[in-house]
Amino acid sequence: MWWALFVFLACFAKNEYLYSYPISGPVEAFVVGTPHKKADWETRPDIRVCADTGVDAFRMNRAVSFWEKLGYKFGSVIIDNSTTCMKAYYGEILVTLPDSSFKTSQIAATRIYSRINTDKIVKAKIFIMPKDARKSRVLEHEVGHALGWSHFNKKFHIMHSNWMLGGVDTRGLENSG
Ligand SMILES: [Zn+2]
Repeated sequence: MWWALFVFLACFAKNEYLYSYPISGPVEAFVVGTPHKKADWETRPDIRVCADTGVDAFRMNRAVSFWEKLGYKFGSVIIDNSTTCMKAYYGEILVTLPDSSFKTSQIAATRIYSRINTDKIVKAKIFIMPKDARKSRVLEHEVGHALGWSHFNKKFHIMHSNWMLGGVDTRGLENSG
């Protein structure tokens, strides 16, 4: 009955995109147009932060207000002290420790999950190490991916793919929806 399992899995299949965030590295030479948003959320995302990442409520809320100022809305922000904090549920952005796909050259990464048929985002995971939890702009950048934004390599832009060349420029990121 392998086919039945296949059909079952296909119903729940989702697109997955992974963005990694290196400190520095090769960068494309040109910037064309404006930032690109790959997908929108199906719901207003809640945020759950695993305490073992070293990200505290103050730091998380700062990243949330960064995006709220651009017109994005979030649900609750909670800190999860449980030792099994690693699975993201429907409708939430989970901030958690890196899994085995994480390369040590990265300071953070974000994986978003969207529906195959509509491409609406249903959940997201932000991977971050405690040593980088307080680094400036990192959480803001990753929340940007969680909201559906791709990289935009304009110098000093928040969505620059390279941390060293990034900044707090938010041009083109306002919520139009
Ligand atoms: Zn990135």
